[in-house]
Amino acid sequence: MKNLAAYGLEETGLVEIPGTEYRVRESVLAPFEAFSKKALAAGFEIRVESAFRSFDRQLSIWNRKATGKLKLLDANGEPFLELPKDDEVLMRSILLWSALPGASRHHFGTELDVVDGKSVPEGYEVELTEEECNGMFAPFHRWLSEQILSNESFGFERVFVPGRGKIQPERWHISHRPSALELEKAFDPKTLRGIYENSDIALKSAILDNFDELMRDYVYSYFAER
Ligand SMILES: [Zn+2]
Repeated sequence: MKNLAAYGLEETGLVEIPGTEYRVRESVLAPFEAFSKKALAAGFEIRVESAFRSFDRQLSIWNRKATGKLKLLDANGEPFLELPKDDEVLMRSILLWSALPGASRHHFGTELDVVDGKSVPEGYEVELTEEECNGMFAPFHRWLSEQILSNESFGFERVFVPGRGKIQPERWHISHRPSALELEKAFDPKTLRGIYENSDIALKSAILDNFDELMRDYVYSYFAER
């Protein structure tokens, strides 16, 4: 039996982060709580905006973006007025801001999107943008960088950093590296290819035609052992 957890198809070994609707892998919870406690002492409140995401949830996002039911943004964050007609162009446009189902690190249950809850103005809806990182969350990100650099972040690190693959840098996305390693090892592109072939994923041909390149640029570039 293949380990399907790496693709978000197996939802075992997940626990809820107390006080939230989000789930993480069991081994992530204690380090996360310790890190949160440390943040609080420094004046920040680590607020989770996303954690585990299933294959089906990512597939729904993907398919709705491919059919125009969910807003599709260009590289500047502006909505497309008309969907690209070429399947490959459309696929790459979705990939600017959304992961391929089965290729999202959020399937691991070891990844979190976080902000500083104390800096969110009342009534403001967090969007997770670079602008927010440079604005209201700048002090939090400075602190986070210091913790990571000095190895005092309980195993949490940033992975979507400049100079790796083709995913836009995401400072809000942190990975519990020791836990993620196991899932990275369980990731097998052949299994994922088979999952695509048997699913009703939009843009299937474009994905399968460019499969190896997509795996390299959106998955393997972010693995600890490349
Ligand atoms: Zn994320």
